[in-house]
Amino acid sequence: MEFTKSIALHNEALDHIVGGVNSPSRAYKGVGGGTPVYMEKGAGAYFWDVDGNKYIDYLGAYGPIITGHAHPHITAAITKSAENGVLFGTPTALENTFAKMLKEAIPSLEKVRFVNSGTEAVMTTIRVARAYTGREKIIKFAGCYHGHSDIVLVQAGSGPSTLGNPDSAGVTKGTAQEVITVPFNDINAYEEALKIWGDQIAAVLVEPIVGNFGIVEPKPGFLEEVNRLTHESGALVIYDEVITAFRFTYGSAQQLVGVEPDLTALGKVIGGGLPIGAYGGKVEIMEQVAPLGPAYQAGTMAGNPASMSSGIACLEILQQPGIYEKLDQLGHKLEKGILALGKKHTISVTVNRLKGALTVYFTDKTIENYAQAEQTDSVQFGKFFHLMLRQGINLAPSKYEAWFLTIAHTEHDIDKTLEAVDHSFKQMSI
Ligand code: PLP
Repeated sequence: MEFTKSIALHNEALDHIVGGVNSPSRAYKGVGGGTPVYMEKGAGAYFWDVDGNKYIDYLGAYGPIITGHAHPHITAAITKSAENGVLFGTPTALENTFAKMLKEAIPSLEKVRFVNSGTEAVMTTIRVARAYTGREKIIKFAGCYHGHSDIVLVQAGSGPSTLGNPDSAGVTKGTAQEVITVPFNDINAYEEALKIWGDQIAAVLVEPIVGNFGIVEPKPGFLEEVNRLTHESGALVIYDEVITAFRFTYGSAQQLVGVEPDLTALGKVIGGGLPIGAYGGKVEIMEQVAPLGPAYQAGTMAGNPASMSSGIACLEILQQPGIYEKLDQLGHKLEKGILALGKKHTISVTVNRLKGALTVYFTDKTIENYAQAEQTDSVQFGKFFHLMLRQGINLAPSKYEAWFLTIAHTEHDIDKTLEAVDHSFKQMSI
């Protein structure tokens, strides 16, 4: 495989765009380096790069592309919307239609508000929770990513009794002191944190099914206990469903786990590939938001007709019967195949999968929290990533990311992918 044009474009990008990329996760820092591949066209489950190489795509644009690239129903909706004018700055009927669709799918969303990204959605749920409770601190779980607003770019302290440290330059110590980080799936640590800080906590921020140190499901009873303990202390439960909404089932993660939060942040899939975020929850809490209440949140692009049209079209596709069953079947085949090939080549591999999303960890251990995910073999992952890329399989360049299947993937694509895994594991075991 030749990457001549990608390399030239990247050299050019380095002169103009900081780090050559518009999101750091696109650089190949986490996989031992290399030049990011510049894609030119996507259709269904496939990508073609600027050098003419074809790939089966499992990046899914980090989650949004559940229908496959350039799905005709979504493309038609965006085109029609663009022809009618892309931005009005007035309300449109599309916003009502889409808000009703979200509410029907996720009943805890009694009222919603559209924003432009997952970052904005999460950031605003925190502000609303603070306005509602009159408290300032939040609890989050280690390793969960909630966008790039200051308050969530905070690292764990050394235990539930310590406050966080800034995880990025530019985040103030004062902001970090408002965050307590505890390990996911550890209810004792969570309870301990609440014992110490309970009366100061506005909300706990939860990925109900983790997508950001790989796919990690909650232990039985964990989320129920989080809800109970949080409410006992007078705080709110916020679900960050930016990755999980409409990913595993139409009712989203909260339906799957059977636990309802007070507020929910959404993004990714709900935009069908266009920029979007949304948040919502109980009426009395959402009424904190301007123009009704004192918590300010606004947006020039919020609820724009193109994103609304794309999102509506995407959910219409996901309403069709059999969608999630198909994703599950393909995911199962991929998981089984990877595990069998690990055995064949004596490569230690653990696969965490839920329906059409999975993470391949190079370890023989179970992964239930971030500390365990951190300890998996990064060097092996880096080798695997590059070997797969050279065989036309596009994965996310990080051991912590999920592989996202789309409804456009076929059994044949999985067979081809497993052939590439076979070859990669063989090379890695030499
Ligand atoms: N929350 C979660 C769980 C995410 O995975 C992400 C992005 O990956 C975000 C929030 C931020 O979303 P965005 O990149 O749209 O700002």
